[in-house]
Amino acid sequence: MKSFYLIICALLLSISAQSQTKDSLEVETYTIDVNIPIISNALNALKTVQEASGNNDKDWITDHWNTKVFNPYKNHTKEYPLQIKFDDSTYASPIFGEKVVTSRYGWRNRRPHKGIDIDLVTGDEVMSMFDGVVRYVNYHSGHGKTVVVRHFNGLETVYAHLSQQAVKVNDTVRKGQVIGLGGTTGNARGSHLHLEVLYQGVQIHPEYLFDFSNEENKIRNDEIWVTRRWTTAYRHNSKRKSKVELCTTEEEAIASRANEKKIYTVRRGDTLSRISNKYNVSIAKLCKDNAIRKTSTLRIGQKLIVNQ
Ligand SMILES: [Zn+2]
Repeated sequence: MKSFYLIICALLLSISAQSQTKDSLEVETYTIDVNIPIISNALNALKTVQEASGNNDKDWITDHWNTKVFNPYKNHTKEYPLQIKFDDSTYASPIFGEKVVTSRYGWRNRRPHKGIDIDLVTGDEVMSMFDGVVRYVNYHSGHGKTVVVRHFNGLETVYAHLSQQAVKVNDTVRKGQVIGLGGTTGNARGSHLHLEVLYQGVQIHPEYLFDFSNEENKIRNDEIWVTRRWTTAYRHNSKRKSKVELCTTEEEAIASRANEKKIYTVRRGDTLSRISNKYNVSIAKLCKDNAIRKTSTLRIGQKLIVNQ
């Protein structure tokens, strides 16, 4: 009988405890009158801050998020010019010390070189240029051991030829955080960092966005518009520094597009005189602009500048 009362008491206690928990979970709701000046001003200020930061417009970390493939944007159509925004005025150098560029973004040995090579010694630490989330960690043909970090403005930075990868996919990394060690894995002659900068799967000329020439590590502007010229390797030479004429507005980007070099891809049966007639460019000019001789044999697929 005693135990019966004890059970009843315990039951009653637990019921009262449950109802207390339930009461404490009930939240009172208030409605805010947005017409009160102090509140409407605060809301407007918040909106301005959100608009100014711009990069928060879109959640880039979930956009085409795929940790299995190098380029998840393969079938995605890009709208040019591309607009890139930065919250910061500097990037973190991907290596310690002086950045010695041994090969630039551009045409190299009849192939596109879609990144920039920065000299290092195997085992040197390699850092993420910005805050972000690691999207891809793999052994990638040509690139060797590779780490790709997606940043909050949609840019991705690729660190290739690493000897060691120090992060996992979906890890959050800070600007300047070590993501691996440099090396020679993949198709690399000597130890160096092959660095690529991608936006929606297209490689942008890294020097168009960032100044690598000194230790200031400057981002060229907080808003940069990218035309096809800066995402096309054959418009640049990996041995030469391209002259950067930055577009900081959409209008500038559209205007600069008009001045872009016209490129013709050689087809079967083409001759210099046929191309010269078609584009109304003299053979002498074709030879000069493309550093070829009148007697040079044209290869199918070869790109020629056909500026008048
Ligand atoms: Zn490279």
